[in-house]
This record gives sequence, C-alpha cells and structure tokens, in this order.
Amino acid sequence: MDTVKFVLSEEQMPTSWYNIAADLPAPPPPPLHPGTGQPIGPDDLAPLFPMELIKQEVSTERAIEIPEEVQQVYRQWRPTPLYRARRLEQALGTPAKIYYKYEGVSPAGSHKPNTAIPQAYYNKQAGVKRLATETGAGQWGSSLALAGAMFGLEVVVYMVKVSYGQKPYRRALMETFGAKVIASPSDTTNAGRQILAEHPDSTGSLGIAISEAVEVAAMDANTNYALGSVLNHVLLHQTVIGQEALTQLEMAGDYPDIIVGCTGGGSNFSGIAFPFIGAKLRGERDVRVVAVEPAACPSLTRGTYAYDFGDTGHLTPLVKMHTLGSTFIPPGIHAGGLRYHGMAPLVSHLLDIGQIEANAVQQLDAFAAGVQFARAEGILPAPEANHAVAGAIAEALACKEAGESKTILFNLCGHGHFDMSAYMDYMAGKLQNYDYPAEEIAMALAGLPSVG
Ligand SMILES: *Cc1c(COP(=O)(O)O)cnc(C)c1O
Repeated sequence: MDTVKFVLSEEQMPTSWYNIAADLPAPPPPPLHPGTGQPIGPDDLAPLFPMELIKQEVSTERAIEIPEEVQQVYRQWRPTPLYRARRLEQALGTPAKIYYKYEGVSPAGSHKPNTAIPQAYYNKQAGVKRLATETGAGQWGSSLALAGAMFGLEVVVYMVKVSYGQKPYRRALMETFGAKVIASPSDTTNAGRQILAEHPDSTGSLGIAISEAVEVAAMDANTNYALGSVLNHVLLHQTVIGQEALTQLEMAGDYPDIIVGCTGGGSNFSGIAFPFIGAKLRGERDVRVVAVEPAACPSLTRGTYAYDFGDTGHLTPLVKMHTLGSTFIPPGIHAGGLRYHGMAPLVSHLLDIGQIEANAVQQLDAFAAGVQFARAEGILPAPEANHAVAGAIAEALACKEAGESKTILFNLCGHGHFDMSAYMDYMAGKLQNYDYPAEEIAMALAGLPSVG
C-alpha cells in the first residue's frame, strides 16, 4: 500500500522543545546594548519579556519542558500530519521521495501558533495584562490574537499599512479573536509619528511596525512585547515541527538527505531543521539543509553578516545577523511574511559556520511552484510556503537529472486561503519579478551601526 499520510497520536506529541544551543560548536555572537556596545543582560530585556522567556533566550539546556497548559492547547491541532507527496513526485517524474510537514492545520493556518501559545502563557503567568506586537501579512497577528483569547490577554497588533489595506480578512480574523489592530505607521507612537512626518504616504514595513509595538510595551508596565520570529525562544518553540517529523519519518522507514524551508525571520525553517541539524552536529546523521528566501528580500544570499538593529526606529538591541540594513524597505511582494530586513541570529550563525545553505527564488517561480503543488497535492500553500515548495521541486529535479533517489523533506508552513487575491493576480498575469534592489540595499547598509 502506498501510504501518503503519517499521523501521530496525541501521546506521541513532543513534551519538550529542542534547544540547538546545546549542540553548537561555539555560541553565536551575543546581542549588544546599542548605547554601551556591551552584551545585554536579562535586566535589559525585562521591560519587554517575561523572565521565563528571557531564560529560554539564553539557555544552553538541550531539552526544555513544554508546560502542560501549553501542550493542552497544542493538542487542538498537533501533532500535525506528514505527507508523502506521491502525486507531485509522479508529476515531476523524479526518483526522489518528497515528504512535507503540514503546519496549515493550525487555527491561524500556519506554524506561528506554536510560539504564540507559549508566549501568551508565560506572559499570563507573569501577571502581564496586554501584549503588543507587529504583523506583516497578518499570520503572526492572527496567531497572537488567538493565543490572547486562549489565555485571557489583551492584544494590540501594529499591522503594516499595505497589508492592512490588502488583507481585510486577516484583520477581521484578529478582531474576531478580540485583538485591536492599528495600521502602521500610525500616530499612536513616537516612532510612527516620526516616519509619518518624513514620509506621509509610507505604506509601512515590518521594521517600522516592530518599533511601534516595542515602544508601546516599553512605556507601559502592564504591556509586554511579543515577536513572531527571529529570537532564540521563538525558534525553540517551533522545534515541535521537526521532532514530530523525525518520528513520522521513522514510521515511514526514512530519513531526509535534504531539508528545505522558507525563511523570513527564520522560525519555521528552524522548527523543521534544528532537530536534524542537532543530530548532524552530534555526529549521528548527515543532512543537507537549504533555506529559501525571496530574491526581492535576500538577507541570507545577498546581505551582510554584521551587527544591526532589529527595527527601523532603532529601539531594539544590536544583533549579529545577515541583514539588508534596518532602513531597507523591501519591494511589495505577496509573500509578506518574508519581507524582513534581517535573519534570526541562530540561522545566520549556522550559515556562517557552513551548516546550512541558502538560495533565493523569484516571485513568479515561487507561485508557479505553488500552483503545480496545489494541482498535484490538493493543498493551496501560503505565498511564503511557495518558496519552500520551489526549493523542494528544484532538489527533486536535480535528483531526476542525476538519477538519484534521495529523500527530501520540506515544511509546508501554512495554507494560502487568506491570500487568494495574490493567486488571482498571479493567474491574471499581474505579478512581476523584482531585480535585486542593489542600490537601496547599499544605501541601507551604509547606515549599519559601528560596533567596536
Ligand atoms: C510568518 C511566516 C513565514 C516567515 O516567518 P519565519 O519566521 O521565517 O517562519 C513563513 N511562512 C508563513 C506561512 C508565515 O506565516
């Protein structure tokens, strides 16, 4: 029998997160205080995050227990299915085996609730009343709004203005879960007012929206900040994906030769890949790991590995990462979740030490891959996930060319049911590719902070 779906029982769900810091040959460079240039300590982060999350941010323990209350909410949609893409394999005529982990079954339609739920839980435990955050395409805002509803926290979401206009259904979902949604840049913060004074028609960016949310949290003792990607604790929470995939591939009697994930800030990629990279770092099993990013926002393939701010208003610590410059505003591609100027420090570090590879994909190629996938497998991927699909198809075709039957695993990090206008534009021939915005990136990089 040709099994296509590998399902775990609730009892097989992981009970701890996997922390890759335990297996790294050397720790990544530490975050620095922008004023002093010295490594930051827990006290510097305390105005924004609860202590349990700060501890996770700096932990080097390999396994960190998932609280029972968090596991309970996870069980509403976890463990998620792993599929063998037999019909896609046939369509491609490849001897490769293609597996994908499907995170679109969560209530928000992506992997993001995997971290939204524990973040809300730890904040609630710490007595926090309200969470402030940003959202690009609306996936993260929806996930935190959901988590706020589950644990009784108010949520305010600064939504990048262009998405606020383009994605009314994402906004409605957040508001249905009880969150307040504000178009960013807004006149509710200093950071927003400053941008509006200089650029009254600004359509916003993730970097600007982060500045607004951080400012709101820093000014109010009852409000904390929550970030949906980039930070170590966020990547940690996502490792339930890869741990489940490991067990499911065992059921299938397989192990990946190649893992592919798309990268915006790096969290879903890390979620699927870190447990396997850990096994590689411990010398147990080898694996090739490929990050796929949009050519219009190519932080890993064209950015500089340097200390930079996480936001446009320069309120965050300096982190060493592959960056396009904190003032770079990427072209308006439809994969809104991949339009961030930087990359998670852990992912940047892994690229720097040669443990992962990175490729960039053009928008039209990503959508072509997504449509081919939908027609073969019957699942419509999010525009972000299309980059992973394109990466997996490229690997499968390389196997065909070489006559090699490798095993490919990729993360289908979300569905695209809220992104149908992007698919409509694609099918109407209205989408375009963007050249590497070399001049704008050079300008933004000229503004990198100097670090002694
Ligand atoms: C947010 C998002 C991304 C990008 O964020 P990562 O932290 O890189 O995972 C990718 N895909 C989907 C579906 C998203 O919602």
